[in-house]
Amino acid sequence: MPDVTHDQPIQASPFPRFIGSEIYRNSSYGAWHPLRVPRVSTVMDLTRAMGWLPARQYITSPRAKPAALTGFHTPAYLAALVQAERDQSVTEATRARFGLGTPSNPVFPEMFRRPATAAGASLLAGELLAKGGTIFSPGGGTHHGMPDRANGFCYLNDPVLAIQSLRRNGAQRVAYVDIDAHHADGVEYAFAEEPDVLLLSVHEANRWPRTGALSDRGVGQVYNLPVPAGMHDDDMALVRDELLLTAVAAFRPDAIVLQCGADAVTEDPQSRLCLSNNAHWSIVAALATIAPRYLVLGGGGYNPWSVGRLWSGVWATLNGIEIPDRLPVDAQSVLADLTWKTHRRNQSPQKHWLTTIRDEPRNGAISGEIRRDLRVLGSALRIWV
Ligand SMILES: [Zn+2]
Repeated sequence: MPDVTHDQPIQASPFPRFIGSEIYRNSSYGAWHPLRVPRVSTVMDLTRAMGWLPARQYITSPRAKPAALTGFHTPAYLAALVQAERDQSVTEATRARFGLGTPSNPVFPEMFRRPATAAGASLLAGELLAKGGTIFSPGGGTHHGMPDRANGFCYLNDPVLAIQSLRRNGAQRVAYVDIDAHHADGVEYAFAEEPDVLLLSVHEANRWPRTGALSDRGVGQVYNLPVPAGMHDDDMALVRDELLLTAVAAFRPDAIVLQCGADAVTEDPQSRLCLSNNAHWSIVAALATIAPRYLVLGGGGYNPWSVGRLWSGVWATLNGIEIPDRLPVDAQSVLADLTWKTHRRNQSPQKHWLTTIRDEPRNGAISGEIRRDLRVLGSALRIWV
């Protein structure tokens, strides 16, 4: 197999690029859906307030047309999704067959246009990275989408479309790393039998969608690590060094796609993991030098302050920008303007959510369960390498 990883990188862009869109600012999954909160717009506003996002690094995401999505999704499903947006309602048959109009995947005004924008960013990223470079698309990371149904807040699967686009544009071997609190079931569904796509997912054990078992092996390139509730930064550092970096480096990928979901931090309401945002940033940084093409996507993240701070720090990390201990006033006001309504009341932010981007590290003794399961995966890796 040719080693294209180390003699290829002609950088198309000398600096990382951010693909965003205003569609995320004003669209919502509905008044009580976890995705009612602003996320990408907070990252755009906060990074601009910090002076970290000059116009030359920003790209407005195109919106993918249905025909561009058939690399993974079925025409019948895409037609149903477009029609549900147009009608703003679904039939019982559509709900049952395609998972549209459910509590998780409700009918809302931009229910095709918004995911098609994230998918458009992922398709574009594959093209823009043809000659190498780094791209951050925080609207992406919808890793639960299935070919013919919406699943787990995901109407489309933009990580799958990104990997396909990277491969069409010259990356033969792609490593996909997923540190969202939930298993990347849609991505594993797409590539479990594809030897040139390495799949690594770290996710909370016994949590929806309850797939992603330690024993899944695909065709020898699938590695899942379900982790116990309470996982902290020191646990994740061990996972980073013994599993993620080891496996990705051994795979010698032409491209890395990192799904950087922000729901594994302590403040997130959708998991019981206890990471600080430092854990995510150290993985973002560690993966940055292994392959010539690097795409970082968003994912989960349901506390508007923690997701905005975490992903802004991802962008700083990709740019080698030092994050100040205390934010300037303009940046603080972006965070102060956020609200988070939970049932009956507004959730009030902790003080440091408004004045800082970096969390205090969350350290502790390494979990015996994680050590044990890393040994299991380590011996599988040795056979594979
Ligand atoms: Zn998640």
